[in-house]
Amino acid sequence: MKEKIRTILMERGGFVSGQELSELLGVSRTAVWKAIRQLEEAGYEIEAVRNKGYRLVSEPDLLTAEAISARLCTKWAGQEILSFDEIDSTNNEVKRRAEAAAGHGLLAVSEVQTAGRGRMGRPWSSPAGSGIWMSLLLRPALAPIQASGLTLVMALAVREAIVTMTGAACGIKWPNDIVSEGRKVCGILTEMSAEPDRINHIVIGVGINVTDDSFPEEICDRAISIWQICGQKIRRAELIAEILKQFELFFDRYLQNGDMSALLEDYNAALINRGQKVRVLDPAGEYEAVAEGINASGALIVEKDGMRKEIISGEVSVRGVYGYV
Ligand code: ATP
Repeated sequence: MKEKIRTILMERGGFVSGQELSELLGVSRTAVWKAIRQLEEAGYEIEAVRNKGYRLVSEPDLLTAEAISARLCTKWAGQEILSFDEIDSTNNEVKRRAEAAAGHGLLAVSEVQTAGRGRMGRPWSSPAGSGIWMSLLLRPALAPIQASGLTLVMALAVREAIVTMTGAACGIKWPNDIVSEGRKVCGILTEMSAEPDRINHIVIGVGINVTDDSFPEEICDRAISIWQICGQKIRRAELIAEILKQFELFFDRYLQNGDMSALLEDYNAALINRGQKVRVLDPAGEYEAVAEGINASGALIVEKDGMRKEIISGEVSVRGVYGYV
């Protein structure tokens, strides 16, 4: 009943009287009123006006498979969606499903991650309600060496989706972070299962701070949310649908040559490190250099003492000279 009333209010857009609802559903007006209360408790905002009836003002920002599917316009990405209230990590879940033969394009999302991770096992803060914690399963016809570029492809897709939906000023910090105002709004973690010459599967995890207005102390100097950047509380399901749409487009271009060559201009234009002095945290020794941009394999080209060097993402991190960016 609650569901039927929700559907009627959504389809009409304007006011529907209590009388009409009770006639359409064959129930009493008190039953209609109770269902309206239940919808409000579930986060729907409903305006009630005497002599006019009820009008749906806004829906809750749900992160369910239905909410995402209803907004999706993709060919394959997210055509199957698993949504959880809580999970250890969406990457772990998609890896488990991949081992059990799940297909290309499977998406997992969760309201909370209890063991969210970044690169090199670093913790990723994933609280309830304010962010997007999701993972996409890929089974591409690529060689294992071509997999790491997909992190950059996802970075392009997330940035494009955020900019399209909000106009927020944000860029990419090589290789895998979306940043704004010197802080990280999104992190991306790509994991792969492969044999020497064949990819079994790739899992791309994406963590986005969407509506947070504060962060835990350990990351408050380097984290930012979309809400903090542009003052818009966007719907997470809509952003996910937009990211998947953008990912399909960029992914097709990546597949053209199996590398970043068709995406070089887009990526380098979004790269905030470009032309900037950076600190390269290489386990073999830290140094400062000027970042020029990426090459077709996704490596960062830096210039140091008149020499050009290629940085491959693996174990290396890049920072600004004075801070995180
Ligand atoms: P790199 O430059 O090598 O990617 P990184 O420190 O940005 O380094 P990641 O693996 O991308 O590393 O992300 C993990 C780090 O991100 C954590 O160590 C923490 O500092 C930070 N972090 C954790 N949770 C969040 C969050 N919700 N938003 C922004 N930053 C976070």
